[in-house]
Amino acid sequence: MTTRLLHMHDNYVREFDATVIEVRDDGVVLDQTAFYPEGGGQSGDRGTLTDGVHRATVTTTRKEKGTAVHVIEGGVPFTTGASVRGAVDWEWRYPCMRFHTAQHVLSRYLQLNYGLETVGNMIKPDRSRADYSPLEHFDEDMKRSVEEGVNEILLRGLDVEIRFMPREEAIAFLKEKGYQTRYLEMVPKSVSEFRVVLIGDYDAASCAGTHVRNTREIGTIRIGKTKNVGAGKRRIYFTLDPPR
Ligand SMILES: [Zn+2]
Repeated sequence: MTTRLLHMHDNYVREFDATVIEVRDDGVVLDQTAFYPEGGGQSGDRGTLTDGVHRATVTTTRKEKGTAVHVIEGGVPFTTGASVRGAVDWEWRYPCMRFHTAQHVLSRYLQLNYGLETVGNMIKPDRSRADYSPLEHFDEDMKRSVEEGVNEILLRGLDVEIRFMPREEAIAFLKEKGYQTRYLEMVPKSVSEFRVVLIGDYDAASCAGTHVRNTREIGTIRIGKTKNVGAGKRRIYFTLDPPR
């Protein structure tokens, strides 16, 4: 049994109805969910599940063999077959969406202007980070110039589109446009369709994460500290200032 992930097609689903298909010691698996299961560097969603009698707090959601396990603290009050209504903690998720789209723009900017490759990321609602290579130094001038460059793009108000493409077509499309494709080859061959996130005509990337509809929702980026994480890689932390 698998969980249908509603966020794959619509990142703005905040409430949904579902059936409990499995009860675990620490949570439940649903037939469908709008909760984002941790993955691709983005934190798992929080929120609540209720059957009209009991109300359970979901502390995180994790991916497990085609399913999403909603982790519930203090015992699972539901049984298999129960109908529940889920509500995503939007205060947690929406910033993750803004941060995730911002990270894609930052990564594209650093690829185009500094020839850097993104080798890791961690999307959280208050502060996010991404690792870039090869990047030994990152001084104040570069910081200012990257902030200015990225913010100019975010403020263009680019529409974000999610497109599903057959595997080979997606790889060919991304390669032809000069987007980063190294990780695509590592995706198991069993995955025959890729979800491609396009940010205007500026960026495209294969990603299962959650994103905003328009870069205008992000506001502006502020780069914080950076640190060397070995092998020519540098970690860049960033925060967002909401749209004015
Ligand atoms: Zn992504």
